[in-house]
Formats: sequence, C-alpha cells, structure tokens
Amino acid sequence: MFRRLASIAHCPDDAGMARERIVSGESQGGEKHAASAASAASAASAAFVPSGLAVRPKTLQDYVGQSALVERLSIAMEAVKARGESMEHVLLHGPPGLGKTTLAHVIANEMGSTAWVTSGPALNKAADLVGTLTKLGEGDVLFIDEIHRLPPAVEEYIYPAMEDFKVDFTVDSGMHAKVITLTLKPFTLIGATTRAGMLTQPLRARFGITHHLEYYPKADLVEILKRAVVRMGISKVAVSGFDAIAERSRGTPRVSLRLLRRVRDFAEVRGTGAIDAPAVTAALKLEGVDDLGLDEIDRKYLRVLSEVYEGGPAGLEAIAATMGGDAGTLEDIVEPYLLQIGFLSRTPRGRKLTTAGEAHLKG
Ligand code: ADP
Repeated sequence: MFRRLASIAHCPDDAGMARERIVSGESQGGEKHAASAASAASAASAAFVPSGLAVRPKTLQDYVGQSALVERLSIAMEAVKARGESMEHVLLHGPPGLGKTTLAHVIANEMGSTAWVTSGPALNKAADLVGTLTKLGEGDVLFIDEIHRLPPAVEEYIYPAMEDFKVDFTVDSGMHAKVITLTLKPFTLIGATTRAGMLTQPLRARFGITHHLEYYPKADLVEILKRAVVRMGISKVAVSGFDAIAERSRGTPRVSLRLLRRVRDFAEVRGTGAIDAPAVTAALKLEGVDDLGLDEIDRKYLRVLSEVYEGGPAGLEAIAATMGGDAGTLEDIVEPYLLQIGFLSRTPRGRKLTTAGEAHLKG
C-alpha cells in the first residue's frame, strides 16, 4: 500500500519519465519532512526548515477556515485548560494536504506543550510505540499520521495508553515472560487518516473529538496564500495572481503553497517578477495544469471514461486496467477531486462521466 501510494504520486511526463504530481495533496520532498521520520524521537526536535516552507500557522487564530472544527477545538482547549487537564484525543480525517499535521502543532502550541510527529507505518513494532509513549512529557501531543496503517499488534498497546495512560509491556518470552506496567504522563493523541473507514471500531471509539476536514473554498485559499507571501517575503503579487492560484489548488492548501513556489520561480526567471494571472497561467501550463487544476492524469481518466467506455458506467478496475494503473490509486488520488467538482459520478453500476466532465474535455 505504501509503495503503491508513493508510486502513484508520480505521473509520466512527455518524455515518459516519472515526475511528482504538482497538484497532489500528498507531501513531497521536504514539505513534511518530520512526518515520515522513523520515530517520534528523531522527528520532534525543532528541525531545520527550508526557507519558504516555514509557513505553518502557529495559533488557532492563524489557522484559516475549517471554522466548525476550530470552534470545537477552542471550546475543548479552554475547558481542559480551566480544569488543568490534558486535551482530549482528536481524530482528524480527510484528504491529504488539508492541514491535519498543522492542527497538531497548533494544538500543542496553544496548550503550551510539544508536538511529536510520527506515522502508523513507522510504528511497526510494539517497542516503537512504547518507546515513543514513554518519552512524552505531561500534556504533550503525539501526532500519528496514517493511523489506519498501525499494525494490529501495535494498536492493542494504544488502547490502555489512550484510556488510562499506561501500557502493559511483555518482556522476554516463554516461561521467563514478564508483564511490566509502565505509567505514562497524560498526553493527547491526534490521529490523522485519509481512510476513516479503515479504522477499527475500538480505536475510533477512544477519540473524544472526531472531525472530517473539508476541502477549502477559494476565499480561504486566497487568505492562506496572502499570509504565506508575507512570511515568505514575496512582495510583487497581484490580486489576480492569488485568485488564479487558488482556483487551481483543488481546495487544498498544500497545493496552493506548492503552486505559489512554482509560479514565483517562473515569474522571477521568465516573467516580470510579479505573480499575476498571466504568470500563473503560463507557469502552470508548463506543468500541464489547466484552469481548474486538473493535470494529465485527471484528463487521461476523463478521456478513457469518455472515449473507451462511452461515458460509462464503467467499473473502476476496468478503467484502471485501460490506463495501465492501479484501481486503489485512482480511487485515492484521482477520483476524489473529480467527484468533488461534479465531473464524475459513482453509480451502483460503475463510474459515469457527467455532462460537465464531458464539456470540460471538449472545451
Ligand atoms: P495534512 O497533514 O492534512 O497532509 P498539513 O498540515 O501538512 O496537511 O498542511 C499542508 C500545508 O498547508 C502546510 O504548509 C500548512 O501550513 C498549510 N495549511 C494547511 N491548512 C492550513 C490552514 N487552515 N491555514 C493555513 N495554512 C494551512
């Protein structure tokens, strides 16, 4: 699964070489360097952040949009602070790039504690999890990305840790086996997943707050871009530049920020230095990104459905086979946005191209 996702974050370019999808919500390169670290211990230190990437908001006030979630969190934080307790465990689900990791840092900052970042696949042995849990200080935040990928044997250890702040750890085996109970400091677990349906019921039930993050409307993306240019020290940006980037960002802040960096490079090297609508259009045309933020993979999906399957309904497996790709990949990284903008519909008999999708292909 991990390999599969890694490989589909790439798409073929004209020369047939693989390159990363600029419009993918998945993090690439140094964008989220801490999250994939093998253990929370190595990831938690205030790591070096390449210039231009240090644009994460620090407080709930700086966190743009997702107002229902922000309101729920601020009430919960104020209440536990008044009672002198640690913050409840929080489960965040939604597509990549919408700000789940950022919220974990914001919550830790607001609670005056430290955020430790790790991921389900990195915690592949019970000892990894226990080692991580025992390092947490009082009130610290442990962020586990892709929590649905925690191995079942590791997941079992997390239940008593979340509920009673203790873990029973077995040392040795056979007749020498001994169970040691370790007491943990009260901490807050923030789990993130793109696949809420894959979480086990016992794990899901242990979170006090569960919230689905929504794609961001254009106005929120413009606001995120405005704050980012200030932090990145970019001065020459026209309103039309913000609008054009936000429209191509597929509702995803990570995509907005990545497009901004790409357009800035283009404007400085090939353009006038100013980020405006013509610079955005020209820079992203080079990347194969159209006015709606669709790239070559999205268009290929739509074309296959239109031309090979006459608009559908067609089974996902069949579409994937025709494209020479993997069904799970298409479902995870291509279909959500096409469904969101109404170019695709899912019916009991398969995928169907909508009139709007057909019109976009012809336009
Ligand atoms: P996720 O964990 O959901 O994949 P991240 O938290 O890593 O997403 O966010 C991706 C990028 O988008 C980060 O650079 C982050 O600062 C920015 N970002 C995400 N959500 C917001 C928001 N609501 N306000 C401001 N910036 C945001």
